[in-house]
Amino acid sequence: MKIFTGPRIVPLEGREPEAFAVDGEWVVATGTRAELRERYPAAEWVDLDGALVVPGFNDAHCHPSQAALARVRVDLSAAADREAVRDALRARAATTPPGQWVVGQPLNEREVTGVDRDLLDTVSAEHPVVIVQYTFHRAVANSRALEVLGYYSPADAPPGGELTAGGDGRLDGWMYEQAWLDPWLPGPQRESIAPAGAESAQVAALRAVNAELHGVGITSYCDAIVTPLEQRMYTAARQAGELTPRVSMLLWHSYFDAAAWPAEQPDAAHLQLAGVKLMLDGAFSGGTCLCRHPYPSATGADNGLQVLGDAEFAETVRAVDAAGVRVAVHANGDLAIAKVLDAFEALPDRPGRPNHRIEHCSIVDDALIGRIGRAGVTPVPFGPFIALFGEAVQGFYGPERVEMACAHRSFLDAGVPVGGSSDFPIVPIDPLLALQSLVMRRTASGLVVGPGQRLGVLDALAVYTAGSAHATGDAAVRGRLTPGRLADFVVLDADLTAVAPDEIASVPVRSTWVGGSCVFSAS
Ligand SMILES: [Zn+2]
Repeated sequence: MKIFTGPRIVPLEGREPEAFAVDGEWVVATGTRAELRERYPAAEWVDLDGALVVPGFNDAHCHPSQAALARVRVDLSAAADREAVRDALRARAATTPPGQWVVGQPLNEREVTGVDRDLLDTVSAEHPVVIVQYTFHRAVANSRALEVLGYYSPADAPPGGELTAGGDGRLDGWMYEQAWLDPWLPGPQRESIAPAGAESAQVAALRAVNAELHGVGITSYCDAIVTPLEQRMYTAARQAGELTPRVSMLLWHSYFDAAAWPAEQPDAAHLQLAGVKLMLDGAFSGGTCLCRHPYPSATGADNGLQVLGDAEFAETVRAVDAAGVRVAVHANGDLAIAKVLDAFEALPDRPGRPNHRIEHCSIVDDALIGRIGRAGVTPVPFGPFIALFGEAVQGFYGPERVEMACAHRSFLDAGVPVGGSSDFPIVPIDPLLALQSLVMRRTASGLVVGPGQRLGVLDALAVYTAGSAHATGDAAVRGRLTPGRLADFVVLDADLTAVAPDEIASVPVRSTWVGGSCVFSAS
């Protein structure tokens, strides 16, 4: 038994206690120091340094497994230019048997431009080479890879995918949506093009990623796409005692098998399957999401991309729901969100249904929010996107639509709980950066986007704690520092309610605790 005390404690439910008692991983009591001293005379006391204790941050939609696997593959996150990209891939090709895939990720196109088929052809003619662009909505391949995939002209793209070509009709190597996702996430019958490396290397990379996440206060996250490969990686880390955050996983739909879904998950507090992931449309900040009304979208199509056909989509939703499993659909544009709700509303009445989710749920209106509330659906909108991409988003969708983009305030006002999400490693995972964005809705250049959606800092905090817990069905045991919940918390060096809004993102994390154990300390 331990009793934690020290600075101001904000439990996000009930009165602020002076201290809380932790037995094993669980908060068992809160109260004044005197009350807890009397109740637990033998307990060990831990006096926390810092200014504010809040529930641990929970990112309801991110991809730490991809951040880890990027380090096992060819990690391009720090490559400064196209030559650096080429050299890193060449070095890997030199130690890879001919014919095997050489995969680089992520390509950060905000910094590195001019990567195409011709550049990758200078890496190798014997190896299929592919680079995954940072948004995970497209990838670029060399000639050998295009040949292996059977891609010779734009007409070879599968449904929901696109291959682009130059003026001469020759493919430029860029593969959009299903054109690269099909071979990347092919389902259990075929092998993925993505090499995985040794399990020990995966676990070491995951441990390093998790250590970084603890450093910004993360105690739980939901990995928004796993296949059996990532599932094995997390399981191996857990079995080795090296999985320090609490991890939920969304299984990519092509791997879903109702008969194989676990009826019970006894280790759910540490590692659990939380649902099945589908994607219906394109990217929000990339300008390819499916909207009702036209906009200057990145692909030139007038209102964005739909990546899964209506019939196949509805059928998959029905099958996953019938198995009693949570459905989580990536849908950014208002038309895509309406289609998801059409599918959810058509499901038969059934007691005990988990809360289905709409990932990102970026552009909404009052009617869609009403339908989301009535269907008991949980949106998981982007947390830091307005601060990071406000100009791009306003450029694509116009000032009127962005009033209802990442509409945290409108959801909460309608009584709809929302999760907090970064989509890391596409964007930085730092929850305090997201909190500042939710509170200010202001970009670095000073543009304020959709000021009507601003949240108070404690509401923003609740999104990234209790809201995210709700998104995986864990609101009863996570997200608040109250008896009966897990003792996951963060100690900050400043009181978030006392600093200026534009200082929230720079408040240092002093320490991070999972189940009453310290997983990060700044000192
Ligand atoms: Zn994602």
